Amino acid sequence: MDVAIIGGGVIGWGVAYHVLKLSPTLRVTVIDKQPSFAMGSTARAAGGVRAQFGTAVNVDMSLRSITFFEEFERELGTNIGFRQHGYLFVTATQDGADYLERVGELQRRRGVPSRTFSVDEVRARAPFLNCDDLTGAAFSPTDGYLDPYAVCQGFEKGARSLGASAVYGTAAIGSESGSVSLDDGGRLGAGQIVLAAGHWSGELAQKLGIEVPIAPQKHQLAMTEPVSGLPENLPMIVDLDTSFHFRPEGQGLLIGYDDPDARQPHADVPPYFDFGFLERLAPVALHRLPLAARLRFDYKRSWAGYYAETPDHHAVIGRCGDIVVATGFGGHGIMHSPAAGLSVAEILVKGEPSTLDLFSLRPQRFAEQDLVPEPMVI
Ligand SMILES: Cc1cc2nc3c(=O)[nH]c(=O)nc-3n(C[C@H](O)[C@H](O)[C@H](O)COP(=O)(O)OP(=O)(O)OC[C@H]3O[C@@H](n4cnc5c(N)ncnc54)[C@H](O)[C@@H]3O)c2cc1C
Repeated sequence: MDVAIIGGGVIGWGVAYHVLKLSPTLRVTVIDKQPSFAMGSTARAAGGVRAQFGTAVNVDMSLRSITFFEEFERELGTNIGFRQHGYLFVTATQDGADYLERVGELQRRRGVPSRTFSVDEVRARAPFLNCDDLTGAAFSPTDGYLDPYAVCQGFEKGARSLGASAVYGTAAIGSESGSVSLDDGGRLGAGQIVLAAGHWSGELAQKLGIEVPIAPQKHQLAMTEPVSGLPENLPMIVDLDTSFHFRPEGQGLLIGYDDPDARQPHADVPPYFDFGFLERLAPVALHRLPLAARLRFDYKRSWAGYYAETPDHHAVIGRCGDIVVATGFGGHGIMHSPAAGLSVAEILVKGEPSTLDLFSLRPQRFAEQDLVPEPMVI
């Protein structure tokens, strides 16, 4: 095998697809300990896609990826339900308003069509929001949301059609002189190994002989029963001050919140939806979205999952010894999967990423203590 990719989520399969597009004669295998693809964080994502970030590298990864998503169905034949209804950030503090202004300038310099919104514009876009205390808002019309599972499925089908194979139900437990050791006692020869194991990557990295600081961080999403009277083109709405955010899903709303009391310590503890989440969410939701008082939640369709977090909220992409690392995407792995797939493919085939400047994502930055935190995380 020329390339063995550990992890069959959106990143692993995005890498597989892009490697084979770049170099069709390579033999590529994806290894996953689960019985099928997208059984980690990928299918638990909210599907948000935005270029409104606070660092150049995240803005560039998003712009590249949004262009890819716009062409996804034409290129890969899978409908990913990409609806570019925008992301609307709102804030009720002066610091927040200044911040949106500042990062907006960075975004526009790099080609994002974002702009600040007046309170009247916010009211027009989202008439049911409490806007009384708002000091600032920003909107970008090319942001939006899509179906995360469909993105992974599209990459998987695309990669397989180009010759990729998969080994499911078998965990990678180490590596040794050009091969990956498997928990069934087998060994898979591989010229190059990619670590794309999501929030399990920190522990697995140690077994592969490298250090990558990835911690699992629990996040939850609550689904409501149908809500009447929602505007057709409702954007993803984010309260910058509290991280409360929501978007339409079918006839209802999908609601998220970075709940400080929801941390779970270990990647192998399956994430479960914790009903205390709704109690903790209530004050922030009721303040910004008064109609939340009338919402009924659909508990069977609410869920939890893990972000693979790094200390600076940026992904880790680059070579580390014999291993090419592609992990630590936090809450951005779906939206950045096309750019990550392309960049890792370039590293594998050409030795380094040539389309995007990913220096600030290199694995070595932690040891060098050269971190540039991404402040715009939800
Ligand atoms: C609640 C929630 C909301 C989110 N919302 C968004 C959003 O709106 N937009 C966005 O872009 N992102 C979002 N994300 C983040 C996104 O889901 C992740 O960044 C993305 O799925 C990461 O993909 P991955 O392939 O790196 O990891 P995963 O999908 O977790 O895949 C890793 C795979 O590695 C496998 N694996 C692990 N260890 C081994 C081993 N030893 N051997 C073999 N296989 C192994 C696992 O079985 C798994 O299938 C959200 C995440 C959560 C939890």
